[in-house]
Amino acid sequence: MDNTMIEQVTCLYDQSIISVMKKINDNMKNCIFVTDENRKLMDVVTDGDIRRIILDGHELHEPIGRYLKNDFVYIKEHEKFDEILSKISQRITILPIVDSEFRVIDFFECQGTLQAGVARPDLYGNEFKYLVDAFLSTWISSKGEYISEFEKKFAEFTECEYAVAVSNGTCALHLSLIALDIGPGDEVIIPDMTFAATANAVLHAGATPVIVDIEKDSWCIDPAEIKKAITPRTRAILPVHLYGQPCNMYEIMQLACNHNLSVIEDCAEAHGAEFNGQKVGSFGDTGCFSFFANKVITTGEGGMVVTNSPVLYEKMRLMRDHGMSPQKRYWHDVVGYNYRMTNLQAAIGLAQLERIDYILGYREEIEQSYRKALREVASIGFQRNDLPHRKKITWLVSCLVQPENRDPLLQLLERNGIDCRPFFYPLGDMEIYKNYIFSNQNSKNISKRGLLLPTFFDCHKSLVDQITGIIKEEILEDMICMET
Ligand SMILES: *Cc1c(COP(=O)(O)O)cnc(C)c1O
Repeated sequence: MDNTMIEQVTCLYDQSIISVMKKINDNMKNCIFVTDENRKLMDVVTDGDIRRIILDGHELHEPIGRYLKNDFVYIKEHEKFDEILSKISQRITILPIVDSEFRVIDFFECQGTLQAGVARPDLYGNEFKYLVDAFLSTWISSKGEYISEFEKKFAEFTECEYAVAVSNGTCALHLSLIALDIGPGDEVIIPDMTFAATANAVLHAGATPVIVDIEKDSWCIDPAEIKKAITPRTRAILPVHLYGQPCNMYEIMQLACNHNLSVIEDCAEAHGAEFNGQKVGSFGDTGCFSFFANKVITTGEGGMVVTNSPVLYEKMRLMRDHGMSPQKRYWHDVVGYNYRMTNLQAAIGLAQLERIDYILGYREEIEQSYRKALREVASIGFQRNDLPHRKKITWLVSCLVQPENRDPLLQLLERNGIDCRPFFYPLGDMEIYKNYIFSNQNSKNISKRGLLLPTFFDCHKSLVDQITGIIKEEILEDMICMET
């Protein structure tokens, strides 16, 4: 490491508190490593430590060395990467690296300028271990033991017979449509409020999406609207379990049964959600999941299709792998795709899946703390978690504010280093989808009010307090302005 870089993050124990403050201000790392003349590490002092020293009534010209607390985390030279990772936590994002004589020779820093992104993957279980194992095995492409293991365990998780790992969630949807022989001339009913991939997969299959409205209370596709939109050309319903909320699968399956339609569930945002005690993904002909980095669990990029149909399972495996005959290598009876997942991705996925109950647990807790902190603000509504038969999971905590508050709030939070998201735009508002609209009034109303809040493993209480504090202040101020 170049010496000037180390120089910026270290100071001598006899330097004054004020000069150390200035140095921290310049290095923009929020902390400094205190050393002796030989650059031997004595302490790590943060912004907060200095604040406490001053609040305790100490003078700014006193040497920092007088207030060392000798309680800090560091890395030894040649320490293993997974040990280093285990030391990075909630608020520690920069760590000194010392040699055998405890001299600072380098530092390790986690990137990230935002104080809070909207999502952050939690990779602190066996992810790194399995990934390295897959890497060292040299099975880094789409053959390898982690893939079949991940598929097996994911099928178990969703209570389905089969699972097919694919490159991403959009592939999962497309593969399902193809396996069901849905194509040109066919109509597929989808909700207006969803990520564009849902519509794109239908269009890529050559079929026609029919976009219908959502329910006011669940924000999921409205079965009554599905019923109205069914024509002789309708082949499938593609419900989306939006923001962790399961659709009304009872009514959807009933409609599908009465009209002989296929059902493809888009579960990209709802790993583990349940309707009537049954896991999403297991109702339809297929269930499609995404493992993009901001989803409930991740493989970087990645996806999975689950099914109980042995016929669909074999067909999807064939189409995923170039349509190549399993009996006769390089022989193709159908035009397939390369939609395979790599063993490296599956290694990460398997480790994620081992901890999914824990991950869903703390996501739920984070949601509870947001709800609690904003309970008294009457103009904020949270996603319903009390709808009969539905057990939602927390993906990103989602709430509704007044439409005139929404964008100012997003901007204000961003200025404070907090990355939130608006809800999806109604598909029908976009030029490329507007011809496929059947109905979307609720979706239009809800879209302009929706806000997704940071939801990830180290959304600790003080961060939730800070975020909800900003929201409350903005909304209350706005109400005072309106009254006067
Ligand atoms: C993320 C997402 C997808 C697409 O998943 P990718 O893995 O990004 O291709 C599809 N549908 C919904 C509702 C999603 O949120």
